[in-house]
Amino acid sequence: MGRQYDVVIIGAGPAGIFAALELSRYSLSVALFEQGPPLEQRRCPVLDPPRPCIRCNPCAITSGFGGAGAFSDGKLTLSREIGGNLKELIPEAEFHRLLEEVDEIYRAHGAPDRLYGTDTEAIEHIRYEAQRRHLILVPARLRHMGTDGGYRVLQSFARVLETQGVEMHFRERVEEILVDTEGARGIQTRKGTYEARFVVAAPGRGGADWMARQARRLRIPMQPNPVDLGVRVEIPAIHMEPLTRVLYEPKLVYYSRQFEDRVRTFCVNPYGVVVQEKVDDVISVNGFSYTHRATDNTNFALLVSTRFTAPFNDPIAYGKSIARLANLLSGHILVQRLGDLRKGRRSTEGRIAANPVQPSLSSATPGDLSFVLPYRYLSDIVEMIEALEGLIPGINSPYTLLYGAEVKFYSNRLQVGEGFETPVPHLYAVGDGAGITRGLIQSSMSGLVVARHILQRLGAGPQG
Ligand SMILES: Cc1cc2nc3c(=O)[nH]c(=O)nc-3n(C[C@H](O)[C@H](O)[C@H](O)COP(=O)(O)OP(=O)(O)OC[C@H]3O[C@@H](n4cnc5c(N)ncnc54)[C@H](O)[C@@H]3O)c2cc1C
Repeated sequence: MGRQYDVVIIGAGPAGIFAALELSRYSLSVALFEQGPPLEQRRCPVLDPPRPCIRCNPCAITSGFGGAGAFSDGKLTLSREIGGNLKELIPEAEFHRLLEEVDEIYRAHGAPDRLYGTDTEAIEHIRYEAQRRHLILVPARLRHMGTDGGYRVLQSFARVLETQGVEMHFRERVEEILVDTEGARGIQTRKGTYEARFVVAAPGRGGADWMARQARRLRIPMQPNPVDLGVRVEIPAIHMEPLTRVLYEPKLVYYSRQFEDRVRTFCVNPYGVVVQEKVDDVISVNGFSYTHRATDNTNFALLVSTRFTAPFNDPIAYGKSIARLANLLSGHILVQRLGDLRKGRRSTEGRIAANPVQPSLSSATPGDLSFVLPYRYLSDIVEMIEALEGLIPGINSPYTLLYGAEVKFYSNRLQVGEGFETPVPHLYAVGDGAGITRGLIQSSMSGLVVARHILQRLGAGPQG
């Protein structure tokens, strides 16, 4: 065995960082293992100027200090309904207390004071107008750090972890979680084995496959989550301004007439850019906005949720195969004008060049989304765009850009008990990789909960 620690944490995303921040306040030996590089060495080689993804391993966008959140839009959504399933695991009052605490920590490290989603009169008006179009508005308070603001917050987290003595192991992927008859006892990397009294697994969505393999090996029961599939929509920012000014991220849900599927807006980026994201071996679309650099466009995802029924239970494989199809046809990401989709023809470089809305992801390949997405998904998406026209005049224009495929596969949900401990004693699973969160705030909250549970077990916390 190599060195011994009180706690070893796998993954330096928000879940792992928040666990480490809290644990290291109480003179414990804590080591954080991250397969990617430190924050300042994270560079996506094809971001600026945008070029097709060259499939780095691990991906610079989703791996390294800060996890998937480092280049994210930094939207801190303060809601029980959005960003994960913690509401099923934490009682309501406790949830709100933790939410405020985590929000306070982000602010103490530089997140802005400005809060969207508080103008109740304006929100009620939007809700009324939405309802008239069979759209359901899910209002939420939101703090927007932006990609650059979020980066500075992460720099501040990194400084505190260093001051509090957390041992950081970058570019060191954890291969196996080690257990004996008593429970978890450490981890194994290519460089050696590390013994620990507690192991916290926080590998994020990018580590979902690895987490599932570990869970199968350790006989931790898992449940598949639904897969979300769809497109990223890009329109002139001015069309959405009345909504984004009030809510920043209008969360709207629509139940399609033809298939009665649930379709929703997701990850709205006012004045932002569309980007490509590598998840395992496939490339999907995503988006973000900078706080100090604005484009003329707003982008957001329109996603259809599918929960498959027996005998099929591999939604991740399904989602990946759709993304792979888009990758196969376009090299990576495909872009099509809504008007071309309606006419049953592909978009071409000429049509895109002449389009009044210019793609912010200029490396996307003009093509035909109907060769990628099943009819059911396209029909749901077009129906929702038609419903949205009443709320966002201009969105149903032939010039609206659709990028595909956007796929959100959520990790299998691991069985966890109190404090997110798995059935393997002393092994905890948190964040997006455990299938229980889907956003910065809830993943950070899960890290804090785990740390408190471990501190209590060690008699080392605030009461220890
Ligand atoms: C482009 C983009 C934009 C986003 N925008 C927002 C947003 O605006 N607001 C929001 O709330 N959420 C956003 N999200 C989602 C948010 O980033 C995630 O929900 C959050 O980062 C999850 O935190 P996590 O700690 O669970 O996992 P991650 O942040 O995914 O971190 C997991 C870390 O574990 C590492 N890892 C995995 N396996 C291993 C292993 N075996 N050994 C060592 N290390 C390993 C990974 O390299 C990674 O760094 C966005 C995500 C993306 C990709």
